[in-house]
Amino acid sequence: MRSFWQFEASWISGLLLVALLAGKVSGAYLAAFTGALALYLLRHILHLYRLLAWLRSGKRKMPLGSGLWEEIYYLLYRLMRRNKRRKKRLLHMLERFQTATAALPDATVVLGVRNEIIWFNDAAITLLGLRKSDVGQQVINLVRFPQFVEFLRQPQPHTQLDSVDIASPVLMDARLQVRIVPYGEGLRLLVAQDVTQLRFMERVRSDFVANVSHELRTPLTVLKGYLETLEDAQEQMPRRYFQIFKRMNEQTRRMQYLIDDLLMLTRLESDHKPRSEDVPVPDILREICDETALMKEEHAPISLEIATQAHITGDKSLLYSAFSNLIVNALKYTPAQGRITVRWLQDEIGLRMEVEDNGPGIAVEHLPRITERFYRVEIGGVSNKDGTGLGLAIVKHVLSRHNAELRIRSKPGEGSCFGCYFLH
Ligand code: ADP
Repeated sequence: MRSFWQFEASWISGLLLVALLAGKVSGAYLAAFTGALALYLLRHILHLYRLLAWLRSGKRKMPLGSGLWEEIYYLLYRLMRRNKRRKKRLLHMLERFQTATAALPDATVVLGVRNEIIWFNDAAITLLGLRKSDVGQQVINLVRFPQFVEFLRQPQPHTQLDSVDIASPVLMDARLQVRIVPYGEGLRLLVAQDVTQLRFMERVRSDFVANVSHELRTPLTVLKGYLETLEDAQEQMPRRYFQIFKRMNEQTRRMQYLIDDLLMLTRLESDHKPRSEDVPVPDILREICDETALMKEEHAPISLEIATQAHITGDKSLLYSAFSNLIVNALKYTPAQGRITVRWLQDEIGLRMEVEDNGPGIAVEHLPRITERFYRVEIGGVSNKDGTGLGLAIVKHVLSRHNAELRIRSKPGEGSCFGCYFLH
């Protein structure tokens, strides 16, 4: 038995003894025992009163007690101290978290289920112009750019765009890249990063490529002009120059393709919106297939399967060039005894243009990088020396400007399937 129980037992036995003696002396046993019980109860009521007063006051100093009550006071005191320490630790952690988020260069805003602001860091004040009094307000009432509002309203996490660029509502000429990260129950973290410098560098690079391509155009036209003149004089040319002349023609043609593709990419990267017109995809595919078939004397047959007559809205010339890039690639890389199928179909995901071939295929390790500029894969036995390595980059850009995706399935030795997915 613990000592406080012993103490309590001796208290009770003491009281009983006193009651017994008092009863013996007075002969009123009932009154003596009732008095002892009342005394015992009084002691507990007194301690309960002290306990209540102590808990209410929140004072550190523990009330004095003996036996059972000393133990109760001590255990409560220990619990209180433990809670205090835990609270202190949590406060410290919170402080550290707040200092860390305050030091973050990116604006960070915690949004509730209705997009109301719950919390934000200091960078949100500088970059988004939020004020302490904005807590509880819907963020779209404070940052009103249409693309931002549309981005925020997109269902999460199935977002088509994973970030959106907006101008800073407070900093002149600053560009912000906004991302949304869902977390917890219905909460979302809005992170806005200052990408002004990055966008500036991208524009410088893009302008540089556009300028160089433009500047190269003139000397190339002159060269091509001379080569065309020489073509008429081929008859009088010594035979040993024939091969050189052929290579010169090939290389100028390749340079022309490169310049055209680079200019197309810079056009795609520029901020201007693509045209929004009716695009009769079935007609376009027929036209491309007919034209492409004339490109190579001996080639794999192209079969066209039009399963829907649906049109889409977009930039006709951009889409023409994307589709034609895929069909030309299939023709270029599939041997003459192979087979190419071009499809236009609709299913539960949306509309889809597909180019399937049973050519050499692409090894899986190349697939993640295949749409990068100038990324080319050496294909055994098939010459891709005419390629620029820019075709698939163009396709990807064109599709992303139409909220569509390029998906590639390919197996070496079995063939490839390039799908342009126009999602709902
Ligand atoms: P390129 O001008 O070299 O064709 P692309 O960007 O169009 O540039 O294609 C990049 C690379 O992807 C090509 O070099 C080729 O290796 C590979 N590729 C593209 N289409 C096919 C295809 N239908 N079959 C096999 N490989 C392909």
